[in-house]
Amino acid sequence: MGDPRAFLRVVRKKLPARPVEKRVHDCREVDEPFPELELRAQATRCMDCGVPFCHGGCPLRNLIPDWNALVAQGRTDAALGELLRTNNFPEVTSRVCPAPCEASCVLALDNALLGAVTIKAIERSIADVAMRELRPAPVKSRTGCRVVVVGSGPAGLAAAQELARRGHDVTVVEKDDRPRRAASLRNPRLQARKERVWICDLLRWKQKASSFEREFTPGSM
Ligand code: SF4
Repeated sequence: MGDPRAFLRVVRKKLPARPVEKRVHDCREVDEPFPELELRAQATRCMDCGVPFCHGGCPLRNLIPDWNALVAQGRTDAALGELLRTNNFPEVTSRVCPAPCEASCVLALDNALLGAVTIKAIERSIADVAMRELRPAPVKSRTGCRVVVVGSGPAGLAAAQELARRGHDVTVVEKDDRPRRAASLRNPRLQARKERVWICDLLRWKQKASSFEREFTPGSM
């Protein structure tokens, strides 16, 4: 944690929106990322509470104070490691989740004066690092067991990833013609970004699900 009193001088900010005159010409995301210094300042607002209610409010139990502290120090790559410990798809959750963590943040008790830590925007910034920098990292040893996961929705893909991390050979079967189609089509923001999101995910799955490539490859999408 940086300065435990930073929330008294740093005002909560939302992600800046792209100008309307630019947005009407494309389908890219509305929000722009925080500049580096603003991102770190927003992360510094986290007090690393003794009882972090944000953690309890998150369905995934994300280690929010831990990665807030790392982002505040400018160690976004280390924050990515912490985020991936509990979250299989931060590039998705940081865009579609309604952020109950922010509603649970201690600073949200006085929204008019302080306002919750911008947890969702910070998570998205960390996930964007994954989009740019995550590379396949093959598992060290394989168990020789083969597992088939039926369905490539968020639960199926998270299960496949976790099993593959443990060295099993995982095959994901899907009746649809594309992985995660249902999950992505429901959200127009993701629809606009599906190519990047999927490619990032494929990089991660390829490192862990050896037979995944036979089912879905970038060329088959
Ligand atoms: S509740 Fe808010 S201030 Fe406290 S640790 Fe969580 S994000 Fe930080």
